[in-house]
Amino acid sequence: MSERLTVRVAVDAPLSESLTYLPHPEFQVRRGDVVSVPLGKRQAQGVVVAVENEDPANVSSFELKPISERIEEFASLSLPEAHLKWLEWMSDYYLHPLGQVTSLCFPPLSKTQKERKSNRPPVIPEVSHRTPHQLNVEQQNCVDSIPLEKGFSTHLVHGVTGSGKTEIYLELFTRTLAAGKKGIFLLPEISLTPQLIQRFAERFGDQIAVLHSQLTDRERTNQWWDIVEDRKSILIGARSALFCPVKNLGLIVVDEEHEGSFKQDEKLKYNGRDCAIMQGHFNNCCVILGSATPSLESWKNALDGKYVLHQIKNRVNNRPLPQIEVIDMRLEKEQEKVDILRPNWLSEKLLNATHAALERKEQVAFLLNRRGMSQLVFCPSCGHSVECPNCDISLTLHANVHLVCHYCDYHENFKTQCPSCKEGELINLGLGTEKVEEDLKRLFPDKVIARADRDEITSRLDMEELVQKMEKSEIDILIGTQMIAKGLDFSNLTLVGLLLADISFNLPDFRATERSFQLITQMSGRSGRHVKADESPGKVVIQTYNTEHDSIRFAQAHDFEGFATQELQNRQQLNYPPFHRVVSLRIQATDLNKVQQTAQQLSLRAQMLKEKFPVFADIEVLGPAAAPIAKLRNQFRYHLLLKSAQSRTLNQFVRKVLGDTKWIPKQAKVVVDIDPLNL
Ligand code: ADP
Ligand code: ZN
Repeated sequence: MSERLTVRVAVDAPLSESLTYLPHPEFQVRRGDVVSVPLGKRQAQGVVVAVENEDPANVSSFELKPISERIEEFASLSLPEAHLKWLEWMSDYYLHPLGQVTSLCFPPLSKTQKERKSNRPPVIPEVSHRTPHQLNVEQQNCVDSIPLEKGFSTHLVHGVTGSGKTEIYLELFTRTLAAGKKGIFLLPEISLTPQLIQRFAERFGDQIAVLHSQLTDRERTNQWWDIVEDRKSILIGARSALFCPVKNLGLIVVDEEHEGSFKQDEKLKYNGRDCAIMQGHFNNCCVILGSATPSLESWKNALDGKYVLHQIKNRVNNRPLPQIEVIDMRLEKEQEKVDILRPNWLSEKLLNATHAALERKEQVAFLLNRRGMSQLVFCPSCGHSVECPNCDISLTLHANVHLVCHYCDYHENFKTQCPSCKEGELINLGLGTEKVEEDLKRLFPDKVIARADRDEITSRLDMEELVQKMEKSEIDILIGTQMIAKGLDFSNLTLVGLLLADISFNLPDFRATERSFQLITQMSGRSGRHVKADESPGKVVIQTYNTEHDSIRFAQAHDFEGFATQELQNRQQLNYPPFHRVVSLRIQATDLNKVQQTAQQLSLRAQMLKEKFPVFADIEVLGPAAAPIAKLRNQFRYHLLLKSAQSRTLNQFVRKVLGDTKWIPKQAKVVVDIDPLNL
């Protein structure tokens, strides 16, 4: 029997392998084509990954079926080879079925529905063209030292807040377009940064397409085709924009590369920054990572010469960096008697500075990384604290009437009587943004006070409105969670207060200190961004119970490099990233026993494999232990951490530990997270 041609298709289904079909009798397919194939009783979409002669030694025992059809609207579009290679890398690296990875490349609706009108307002506002700033010497040097025409290389642009990084990106995109190529601009959370998109729109007009989570399916589909069919040249988006198959790619920029929100935490748990670098590799184009507070991963890669480092040490026009003052709240507590009007979370210094800024008609922002009224609702008679029935988390009081779980959104009405002893009256402990707002309204009754947290800002439009009001100085005091720390540029904001800075560095995570340093530096960077070189700088007041914490000391001195050196030493001692790679295996189920048993079995398998295969001997296996949130949405959670200096070896080890997964009991689930950001 002569060999016959077979077609391997990555099908959108939870299958670890691609499936084999026969060619269609009437048309030919190539690698990258989008096809429809029979899968059980249904039809499934898939991407052709190989057309090859059937291996005579390995002929399938059951009858192969032919491909059903080529999907019409993709007939002229097969996935570019570089994109396919990137998708295959994703599937391999993150241990995720290739068909499910490739399925993320396509728009949500079919093209034929394109003309249907959506009744929502159009995607980015009409904007007028603005003449670009003349780049200063530092900016120009940075742009000139990025060899856009020379293919793949990765560049880390480390520039202090307000040093004009965005202006550098704009110039790089201008050059990319002039060379007839396209570019991708990746942002952590696109709805939080309307000003950035505005600046791109002012420079590039209708050349830009924007993809983000708040578009309708129709809008998303249209933007996708605009890029794919070459009507637009710059794709701006959050991490998922990388899946759009952009041909002729000349540049990828990842702004705020240190941001945790580049990591997707469900299904395909990928890190958009890392995947952007790999996409640049396969497309042979430059990748730029930008930040005022680079991640230690990127910083180490720059030190090791894997990335080219560009530093911009001064703010634009020599505007001064803000002056940072640290207040020891332990001492404040002792002086509490002084002023009954002043709430105990507010130091006298910060209160006075607020008065002074407001008198000068300048704006003030308070950052508190915790929303709601209070953190803990607690009965002083019996000690009962009110917890979520579904999660191992205390409920947060909102608006003095609701108790809410910040993890599963469980709600209940707040009653003052203790539900446990029925005698005590519940009291509220801890501070949240709502309480800060309430107190500030009392202290500054004639000022306009706005709050920006996930309760108030629920859409892109909310954020745009807030930004406009801040720009027009219609808001005097802004209170917010970390969502106000990112990328915003308000010329009249000259005082930033950081309340309870301790929240971020006290989290049980090896990255807590790094995150805290980033948050403090980024938020400080919002202050005094437009004061002139000879004017007094913006002010930042950090309130903390731990003034000596590394994240505070180094942020106060604007010393990123000092911080990075110190923190890299800590990480090296503990074998944590960026020195070692980590994989987390989380075991979850509604039955705690099942979770514990499965976790134990997983750990035994790991130990056994380490003993059996010398290549795995150096891999560290930590746990099993209860996860930091031990119960979430009624699922108990345990985890196992695997660490190794070799990412390849670790990948092979995880595959072996999980094996064919048939041994895992049906009721339990093992969730694999490669390079986890949250433990
Ligand atoms: P970063 O992204 O580094 O925080 P931005 O690019 O937002 O900094 O720049 C800070 C501010 O300085 C912005 O308002 C921007 O318009 C302005 N700016 C940037 N480059 C220049 C320049 N070369 N000349 C004058 N103003 C500039
Ligand atoms: Zn809950």
